[in-house]
Amino acid sequence: MKLGKYSIGTGDRFSHQGVAQLRAIMNANQSGLDITPVWNKSNREHQYVHSQPSDVRNEADAAVKALGFTGRYFVDADHINLGNVAPFVETADFFTLDVASFIGKKCKKEDIIAFVASCENYVGKLEIPGIKYPLIVTVDLLKHIALKFLVATQHAAELYNFLKTAKGEGNFITEVSMDEVESPQTPIELLFILKMLADRGVPAQTIAPKFTGRFNKGVDYTGNIQQFAKEFEEDVLVIDYAVKEFGLPEELKLSIHSGSDKFSIYPVMAQVIRKYDKGIHLKTAGTTWLEEVTGLAVADGEGLKAAKMIYAHSLGRKNELCAPYADVIDIDVSRLPSVEEVNTWTSEKFANTLRHIPGHPDYNPDFRQLIHVAYKVASEMGREYTNLLEKYSEIIGACVEENIYERHLKRLFNLQANTIETE
Ligand SMILES: [Zn+2]
Repeated sequence: MKLGKYSIGTGDRFSHQGVAQLRAIMNANQSGLDITPVWNKSNREHQYVHSQPSDVRNEADAAVKALGFTGRYFVDADHINLGNVAPFVETADFFTLDVASFIGKKCKKEDIIAFVASCENYVGKLEIPGIKYPLIVTVDLLKHIALKFLVATQHAAELYNFLKTAKGEGNFITEVSMDEVESPQTPIELLFILKMLADRGVPAQTIAPKFTGRFNKGVDYTGNIQQFAKEFEEDVLVIDYAVKEFGLPEELKLSIHSGSDKFSIYPVMAQVIRKYDKGIHLKTAGTTWLEEVTGLAVADGEGLKAAKMIYAHSLGRKNELCAPYADVIDIDVSRLPSVEEVNTWTSEKFANTLRHIPGHPDYNPDFRQLIHVAYKVASEMGREYTNLLEKYSEIIGACVEENIYERHLKRLFNLQANTIETE
């Protein structure tokens, strides 16, 4: 089972936007691309919204059927570990093995010695084709990398082997993720992480490292874009080398988590994947929930009322809602409007404040981040919320589609440029 060169993870908290998401991808594919849709949902999200892994499968199958989509598509058990994988086994065919919490965990001395010995050939100046300078590999560095990542990759292997037994070899896509940590992994670390995975027989098709800079939820990238560009390019070259050197699947590519809304680095990624003719997987999730709230505001009437209520509750419960997301949001409280003020807003003003249009005078990334973490509020509204999604499905669906196609896929795959070129 192969993922394909380009793929997009489309998370959907309340499982109502599958068709709109698929429409956006099919739109992009009309320009000659072949983007594979992957519906991803983590155990954490399921718990917050009280959904089941089978709901994601049903949503994906229904969307594909409704639109007559004939390409391949997948359902991703996102961020799973041995403790919570079981309920996903039946309905998912893409598994994101999250081993971040095992980074730095104590490992056996003999394992370290064996790993370092197996890397003998790479000690010294290691030339990676395409990277200007050689990587300097020392025994000390290898020990350090082993101490940090050996247990994590062993855990990935354990989890992979569990799935191999449960689902059969070749019947699912394997991703390994290490993104939910504080410090980024360097390209040289990535190289040896990939060796560890190859040594243990984990046929990863995507790998999600932690990149430099902040990938805050629902808003643009913050950090040094030049540094990101350098790292991203080196990661791509390291993967290319690792595939040939360690015998990993040839389709192995980078997976960008919290990838929605990172508009300022899309041109960088687009340029690198074009330059080397490489693939990419980009995960998005919360951005679709934000479009649901935008759509409710656009719908006016009951919809706008609900959007305002969600904001009022999220402001009142700010600390509780932000706590699980402390590492991935940066809200400047002084820029949050009061409930009284928001209650006077028109439909247009609310939507423009929330919608991610960089440079729009009303756009407020602090407001947007707070709404991002507020899906728990909508979840607590239960049927009241999903009834509104159904009542305003056309308006909301149009927002979801526009967001993924116009603001994400067009930027990431340079579609505007392509259109101009062919005209
Ligand atoms: Zn992630």
